[in-house]
Amino acid sequence: MLMPSERASCVPCDRRVFAFEAAVSCLPRICPKTRSARFTQPQYSIASSALTQGCKRARANYWPASRQDERIVAAARVSYGKGTKSVREDAGLIAYLMRHGHTSPFEQVILTIHAKMPIFVARQWVRHRTARLNEVSGRYSILADEFYLPERTQIKPQSKRSKQGRAITELPKETQDRVLALLQRDQQTVYDSYQEFLTADIARELARINLPLSTYTQWYWQIDLHNLFNFLLLRLDSHAQYEIRQYAEAIVPFVRAVAPIAWSAFEEHALYAKKLPKTLNERLRRFLEESAPAQSEASGLLDELNRL
Ligand SMILES: Cc1cc2nc3c(=O)[nH]c(=O)nc-3n(C[C@H](O)[C@H](O)[C@H](O)COP(=O)(O)OP(=O)(O)OC[C@H]3O[C@@H](n4cnc5c(N)ncnc54)[C@H](O)[C@@H]3O)c2cc1C
Repeated sequence: MLMPSERASCVPCDRRVFAFEAAVSCLPRICPKTRSARFTQPQYSIASSALTQGCKRARANYWPASRQDERIVAAARVSYGKGTKSVREDAGLIAYLMRHGHTSPFEQVILTIHAKMPIFVARQWVRHRTARLNEVSGRYSILADEFYLPERTQIKPQSKRSKQGRAITELPKETQDRVLALLQRDQQTVYDSYQEFLTADIARELARINLPLSTYTQWYWQIDLHNLFNFLLLRLDSHAQYEIRQYAEAIVPFVRAVAPIAWSAFEEHALYAKKLPKTLNERLRRFLEESAPAQSEASGLLDELNRL
């Protein structure tokens, strides 16, 4: 459940005006499947902040967290000039920006996400280079006894259609049990060795090297809305691994809360929009042109396609 709370104040001139902080109480479903009971608390938080240069400008430029759409519109108006004032016009302008790849106004909205995830999820997540992050250090800290165990229903065979996916076929319960038992056994064995190394005062940076990809790590991750949309486009997709998709899905309500109009534009013009290959596009147009004289709907669709 989303629990956004807003806090805003005029702070010393060289500090951030911190506009938004929220926490999710139900985490990506993969978190509670760890061996640790500590996952009952929220492990995921997000902040959207406005960097301002002075108290006066802070007041003038301040947008509450839930109104970050206005920040996008204001940035765009630097390009297009004043004139689009109403919410409907703002929505039209944001849709226009999204449709035409005018992405820089979306970069004005910055989100910071505190997330905890298994290392194999972090490995995929970190490939998104247009973010800034700070991760827990296994050289400095003792890593907790926290490992990811998939839900039984997620234990699937290798996909025959995709070299990097799982099939939808169900496995027999005995196979699933065996996989879970082996995963748990190995996690326990390796963590026991880790603890033994630490007890023997072996350096933490060496003690950790056999810990598995299922070990939890955590970080602060800061990204602008344009690049977050790119992350979501790729990681909400059915080709993304199930586990990272859970995190992408957990981020969506925050984006919707922070910039609802931009989110709708993203859904309409990017997330659920399909780019057609040239040949398919030509076939579709030909088909509509041939059908248009007899069917007014085909004629309308053709007009809409031509307006894009
Ligand atoms: C389903 C799936 C499977 C994948 N499989 C693999 C795999 O098998 N192996 C693998 O290595 N990766 C894999 N990836 C990662 C993928 O190749 C991308 O690295 C990752 O998704 C980040 O995407 P991005 O480059 O758009 O994001 P970002 O890194 O955030 O980049 C956003 C935009 O900025 C540009 N950009 C960023 N940094 C630079 C730069 N230094 N110079 C120029 N332009 C830059 C990018 O081109 C992009 O347009 C996979 C990703 C997905 C979603």
